[in-house]
Amino acid sequence: MKTAVEQLAIEGGQPVRQSLLPYGRQSLDALDMAAVAEALESDWLTTGPRVASFEAAFAAETGARHAVAVSSGTAALHAAMHVLDLKPGDEVIVPAMTFAATANCVLYESAVPVFADVDPDTLLVRAADAERVVSRRTRALIAVDYAGQPCDYGELADWARCRNVQLVADACHSLGASYEGRPVGSLARLNCFSLHPVKAITSGEGGMVTTDDPSLAERLRRFRNHGMAQPDSGRPWQSEQLELGWNYRLTDFQAALAASQLNKLGGWIERREQLAVRYDEALAELPAGRVLARQPGRRHAWHLYVVELELERLRVDRDAIVRALRGEGIGVQVHYRPVHMQPFYRNRYSTRPGQCPAAERAGKRVVSLPLFPSMSDSDQDDVVRGLEKVIGSYLK
Ligand SMILES: *Cc1c(COP(=O)(O)O)cnc(C)c1O
Repeated sequence: MKTAVEQLAIEGGQPVRQSLLPYGRQSLDALDMAAVAEALESDWLTTGPRVASFEAAFAAETGARHAVAVSSGTAALHAAMHVLDLKPGDEVIVPAMTFAATANCVLYESAVPVFADVDPDTLLVRAADAERVVSRRTRALIAVDYAGQPCDYGELADWARCRNVQLVADACHSLGASYEGRPVGSLARLNCFSLHPVKAITSGEGGMVTTDDPSLAERLRRFRNHGMAQPDSGRPWQSEQLELGWNYRLTDFQAALAASQLNKLGGWIERREQLAVRYDEALAELPAGRVLARQPGRRHAWHLYVVELELERLRVDRDAIVRALRGEGIGVQVHYRPVHMQPFYRNRYSTRPGQCPAAERAGKRVVSLPLFPSMSDSDQDDVVRGLEKVIGSYLK
């Protein structure tokens, strides 16, 4: 007979934790609050001097010549697609293992997202995956640094050059990471970031695009402001609209918050690394679970710590494991249902199962464990205890 402690919380047992530990959360301190308060007391609420100085700091951090702040990571991706001047029917290769926004941004510009499979060990897209779906209409490839590990940008850039395809990075997971010593943000022609609260640093909602190309930077600035040219210094009272843009501006008080957060990025990535090492050690003996592979020569930003369940060794599916873990107070999440398996894409674009087998297999097995800089060692010990308890009780 099971003891009361071993009985799963969803079956009436004692949960490992009383309160739910989220998978990710922001860290805010008094310096952040003071920076926002100071911005609110200034003359600027929307885009002003704090946006410009945050952009300069972000460009310096990522080694890019230009950084253009926008209102979300999705707006950053949309802006990147826009400045590529895609025509209807042009194709953009998107890895299936990503958030829906990576593919949606292609549709916003009336082009076609074409889904590529990923490496089953890292869940990163490779040149060989892109090669399998490239066509005469392919204009761009969006590389997604899944979980915070950079893709192989050397290989992808060579492939893109050879195929005359633009390389764009969806670096929403990987701010603070690097590839062969070069920071993420300077690895693709256009690099897109999110400043959502679960990401490395936050402005509430917000995003950024980095590029080395000054003419692309100017187009990005125009796009976030209705397609209006930068005001002419001779006639600052009259704006000139040159193309169709959107209002994707970041406010000055959001920029003040993000700039204050950026000062702490290095320390936060170190804490994420420490927690990842502790998970590695604690989970080395976990039955029926394996961690994703890491590639040499890359610094991982540890946005997510992902465990892939070995379903062959379990009596239940991944969703039952997630439900039981949440019952224990462990707020695990799933990243992601592959985008081509979303009802919208299946219904409107006739994507189908079998198209991206590695992504589909992982989509049924992955679980993201709680990981954020303010998480304590004892919070992490609860996650490990919860996993051992839940997996232990569902082993075949
Ligand atoms: C968070 C995220 C986005 C979207 O960012 P938002 O700021 O929420 O719009 C896009 N792609 C990936 C991979 C993300 O993780």
